[in-house]
Amino acid sequence: MPEEKKITVIALGGNAILQPGQKGTFQEQLKNVETTCAQLTQMVESGKYKLVITHGNGPQVGNILLQNETAKDVAAPMPLYVCGAESQGLIGFMIQQSLHNLLAGKGRGDIPIATVVTQVVVDETDAAFQNPSKPVGPFYSEEEAKTLASDKGYHVKEDAGRGWRRVVPSPDPKEIFEKDAIRQLIAARSIVIASGGGGIPVIRKNGGLRGVDAVIDKDLAGERLAVDVQAKIFLILTDVDQVKLNYKTPQEKGLSHLTVAEARRYSEEGHFAKGSMEPKVRAAIRFVEAGGEKAIITSLGKAVEALDGKAGTTITKQ
Ligand code: ADP
Ligand code: MG
Repeated sequence: MPEEKKITVIALGGNAILQPGQKGTFQEQLKNVETTCAQLTQMVESGKYKLVITHGNGPQVGNILLQNETAKDVAAPMPLYVCGAESQGLIGFMIQQSLHNLLAGKGRGDIPIATVVTQVVVDETDAAFQNPSKPVGPFYSEEEAKTLASDKGYHVKEDAGRGWRRVVPSPDPKEIFEKDAIRQLIAARSIVIASGGGGIPVIRKNGGLRGVDAVIDKDLAGERLAVDVQAKIFLILTDVDQVKLNYKTPQEKGLSHLTVAEARRYSEEGHFAKGSMEPKVRAAIRFVEAGGEKAIITSLGKAVEALDGKAGTTITKQ
C-alpha cells in the first residue's frame, strides 16, 4: 500500500515572485515563479505530498495601487481590497501556468491546478482597526499624504525617514471563507492556490460579507488555511534557510528544531522581528497547537531537503 499523500500548505514569500532590486516586469516575475514552481514540481514528483499553495503580494498590490492612483482621472480607481483580489488573479495565473508547464514536461500535465479567489473573514472589533499600522502602496510627500488623509480619510504615517505612506489595519484572520470549495478541489486531486496576499479581508455584515481596506498577514492566513484543509505540514518558504537566534549579531545561531514551548520563549525574548519572522513563528506555533504534524520555515532552495528533515527549522509540539 503506498503511503497516503500528506496535504501540505506552502506559503511562498515575496522573493519567490519578485527579487529585491527588480523592477517587477511581467517577464521578471514569471521567471521567478518558474524557478519556484521547479521546486514545487519536485515535491509533486516525489509522490508524497498534495500541495496547497499560498503566497505574498506586497510588491504586486503596491504596483496595482500605484496604477490605480496614477490613472485615477481616466479609469475609476478600485478599493485596496479589490486590488488585493486582482493580485490573487495575477499571481495565481502565473503559478497555475508555470506549474502546469513544468508538470506537463514530466508527463504530469493531467494534474488539475486551480486558483481560488479567497475571502478571509476578520472581526470588525479586532483591535487592529483602532491602530492601522501596515504600510501599503507608494511613498508620498508630507503634503500629498495629508491631502489624502483629509480627502479620502486615509491613515498616513511617516515611514522610517523614507517618506509618507498610507497605513491600514492588519487584523487577525478568523476564517477562510472559501474553505469548502478548496477542500472539494483537493479531494478531486487539484493543486490549489488560495488565500493569496493573506486573502481579501472581509467582515460579516447584515448576514453577508463586505470587503474592508486592511491587509492580513499571509503566514497567519496560511495557517488558517492549513488547519481548514487538515494539512499535516505547513511549509513557510522565505529568503533565509533557518530561523535564527540573535539574528544578525556575532552570536547568531541557526535552529534546526524548535518545540512550541521553545518557539514561544524565544519569541517573547524578542529574537524574531515583528512583521517578518515573528508572524511566521506565531503561525507555526498555532498550526502545531491546532494538531498539525509539523511546521517548517526555510528558503525556497532548501524546501525539498527540509521536508526530509535535512534543512530548515522544523517546529513540532514536543
Ligand atoms: P516573506 O516575504 O518571505 O514573508 P519577510 O521579509 O516577511 O519575508 O520575512 C523574512 C525575513 O525575516 C528574513 O529576510 C530576515 O531578514 C527576517 N528575520 C527577522 N528575524 C529573523 C530571525 N530571528 N531569523 C531569521 N530571519 C529573521
Ligand atoms: Mg512577510
